[in-house]
Amino acid sequence: MKAVRFHEFGGPEVLKYEDVPDVRPREDQVLIHVRACALNHLDLWIRKGLPGIKLPHINGSDIAGDVVEVGSYISSVKRGIRVLVAPMVFCNHCAPCMAGQQSFCREFSVLGYANDGGNAEYIAVPQASVIPIPDSLNYDEAASVPLVFLTAWHMLVTRAGIKPGDTVLVLGGGSGVGSAAVQICKMLGATVIATAGDERKLQKSRELGADHVIDHYQQKIADEVRRITGKSGVDIVFEHVGSATWDDSVRSLRPGGTLVTCGATTGPEAKFDIRVLFSRQLSFLGSYMGTMGDLHQVLKHIFSGKLKAVVDRTFPLSEARSAHERLEKSEQFGKIVLNP
Ligand SMILES: [Zn+2]
Repeated sequence: MKAVRFHEFGGPEVLKYEDVPDVRPREDQVLIHVRACALNHLDLWIRKGLPGIKLPHINGSDIAGDVVEVGSYISSVKRGIRVLVAPMVFCNHCAPCMAGQQSFCREFSVLGYANDGGNAEYIAVPQASVIPIPDSLNYDEAASVPLVFLTAWHMLVTRAGIKPGDTVLVLGGGSGVGSAAVQICKMLGATVIATAGDERKLQKSRELGADHVIDHYQQKIADEVRRITGKSGVDIVFEHVGSATWDDSVRSLRPGGTLVTCGATTGPEAKFDIRVLFSRQLSFLGSYMGTMGDLHQVLKHIFSGKLKAVVDRTFPLSEARSAHERLEKSEQFGKIVLNP
């Protein structure tokens, strides 16, 4: 089969569209013909080199396609159905997994990180990872959903406990996870302040429902938040940017407010004043992907049309290099999708 692999870490030029050995599913697995696979920033980090990656490696965490073969141990998945694939791997038998807390499983990882992913014509996955999709969702849309909506839902709902009437600052409203967060906040009755880096992305954030927007290159985020909220600050800050925005994020919180983060795209180092943490009674929460329960909950709203996949554009799998370059330059709004 064809796949995009890399045999060494480096820039987009290390991605090779080539023939690789066919995937053979085990009897407890389902073989998926991949029709669409969306990119994530993780793909760039893995390509540049992360610990634990065996070379050559196939990226790809967000997959939609058709079930073409079903192992003999599986009774609940039928050949021929259209599906998306849960973007994580877990053992499915330890105590956290049995309690529905897959992200605390010792084997928990992102699909396409510890193992080969969906930048290929076929992938074999466990039955538990396969979720049928309705006809109203095309493959590109379905592939654009799992990782970002799962992550945003777990951050806002499970971790930060968002409530109707809350005001939420969403950093990077034009990113995949940011555009998911803006929609989830609006659906749950919150007021959204979104930041983005250019006028086109600010306008698209407004179209997704953002009540207020801040140009994070032209305006000082914390000052704008103070102005918009009448000096009171926001209930929740949705962070994934890291070093570049951390100070503004902390300064944007109201007393008693919650910062929840899932990433550090601009760098992992941040300083904060412990006195601010306790005297303003802030909460800083970490969040890492989510559980199968979170995924099924957020997908109900995707399947009913209340939340929408945001597809930036599609590339043939053979042009994975151009797709990586677009993501690397932050030119996208929403998800970039590869079609094998
Ligand atoms: Zn487990």
